[in-house]
Amino acid sequence: MTRELRGVPAAPGAAVGAPWIHPPAGTGGAARLSLDEAAEAAAVEIAELGARLRARGHEAEAEILDAQGLMAGDPELIDPARALVEAGSPPADAIHEAGERVARTFEALDDEILSARASDVRDVAARIIRLMAGEAPPRLERRSVVVALDLPPSVTVELDPELLAGIALEGGTRTSHAAILSRSLGIPAVVGVAGLRDAAGTAAALGLDGDAGVVVVDPDADATARLASAADAAGERARADAAFGERPLATSDGHRVICAANIGDPVEAAAAFAAGAEAIGLFRTEFAFAGRGTAPDEETQARAYATVLRAAGDADVVVRLVDIGGDKPLPFLAIEPEANPFLGVRAIRLHERHPDLLPIQARAILRASLETGRRASIMAPMVADEADLDLVLRLVDEARTAVPDAPAPRVGIMVEVPSAVLLADRLAPRLEFMSIGTNDLTQYLLAADRSNSALAARQDPLHPAVLRAVASVVEASERACGSCEVAVCGEMAGDPVGAQLLIGLDVDELSMEPRSFGAVKRAVAARTHAELVALAEAAQGMSSPAAVRASVETPA
Ligand code: PEP
Ligand code: MG
Repeated sequence: MTRELRGVPAAPGAAVGAPWIHPPAGTGGAARLSLDEAAEAAAVEIAELGARLRARGHEAEAEILDAQGLMAGDPELIDPARALVEAGSPPADAIHEAGERVARTFEALDDEILSARASDVRDVAARIIRLMAGEAPPRLERRSVVVALDLPPSVTVELDPELLAGIALEGGTRTSHAAILSRSLGIPAVVGVAGLRDAAGTAAALGLDGDAGVVVVDPDADATARLASAADAAGERARADAAFGERPLATSDGHRVICAANIGDPVEAAAAFAAGAEAIGLFRTEFAFAGRGTAPDEETQARAYATVLRAAGDADVVVRLVDIGGDKPLPFLAIEPEANPFLGVRAIRLHERHPDLLPIQARAILRASLETGRRASIMAPMVADEADLDLVLRLVDEARTAVPDAPAPRVGIMVEVPSAVLLADRLAPRLEFMSIGTNDLTQYLLAADRSNSALAARQDPLHPAVLRAVASVVEASERACGSCEVAVCGEMAGDPVGAQLLIGLDVDELSMEPRSFGAVKRAVAARTHAELVALAEAAQGMSSPAAVRASVETPA
């Protein structure tokens, strides 16, 4: 009997196929390998899969696999596994345990980007185990919907694209690697579907709608027809968005806004520019600090930042000072557990207890700038008031004294704490830019913890209160004689509706995941600037985010 399971929309499109559950039962057929041989073979297999993605033009996704290839030979994974074998553990158990240990250190950071790395490590360990057991890689026999708890990117790439109709996951989030990869490969996907694997185990067919976030178990004729027309509509939309990917971000009457990219790893920079980014509007630097037993030194950090500055050429790169602490603990920083980590010792608030962290990072940014001859923009997260700004400016001054020949950086802050909105007129004249972090600003303005899924409906940045906050920041910057640019780098900037409102509120730059470029540019190009100004004005007087969304999608 047909029944529906609800999940989270992860990649648009619709599909019907036979359920194929990952991981499949072992198939045998290949030679058994030792731990070291299997680790080496895993690196080779992963490199081949990366090459397959590159050949299909998916540079950024190939880089996920490059990182995994390095993990296969990483002493942090292999050395403990060898030690466990020497202590008497069976090799498969040893690599599994070593992989779990590394994965858990990523997970402890409670950051979506970094927990994606936990899945990557587990995938590498599973691949090594499969190679040790002499099992062949997984294969689809017919058109299938792949079902799993989480699906490693390497497996997605390994499966025949002609037969891979869709992906349905019991776990995962919109930002997990499985979701990112399915979006860029155009494979419809739904994640976070409770009870999926049990239901799929007895099903003859599965349908899924990646826009609605629905999995249909044993779809009947009606449901199959609905899914087919949803698939057609999604295909048309994707083609239309793709045609806009590399155009400027501009309204139909030519009002231009900078289209910048958010990245969380230096290797993503080149792909962001290839996808049409005009700048890096947010380079999250937490990657440099994650999964390590000790703090990264100045040299290591400088190398990473230089990679991005080089990829950017003359384009602006906003490097954000590290935003950790509270909900994102690190093994080398003794941070007390806190009852309210989002209101706790986070980001620049860590400076008091860990006075070396930010000065080293600021110097590393300037060193990268000196080495590449490119000016960097330094951005501080969680600035609440002028005292925080004094600290940031002092840190930058001290770094400039230490690296006197580096090009002078642009200095800016994230506006994500409500007090910074109220004080924007005091902060703006002292800054070159402000970037509004609507993810945190929404949670703080609406008192709705962004990690609490029970409050998901309350965390909508289209809320009129958030729109009014953005409007008042823009106004404050205009009063500072326009010398302080205003960007937005929260998820709102990558939502076609959010982007239209932000342009109507007159922000100068939108920074988003590169995959959103096409849809955002197409939506913005359909309206004049005056239309967007009117929509944004009206939206500030509405009573709910739903009313705001409806007014932009179908204006009166
Ligand atoms: C934000 O808060 O909107 C933001 C971009 O920063 P993060 O999501 O990294 O907290
Ligand atoms: Mg933030």
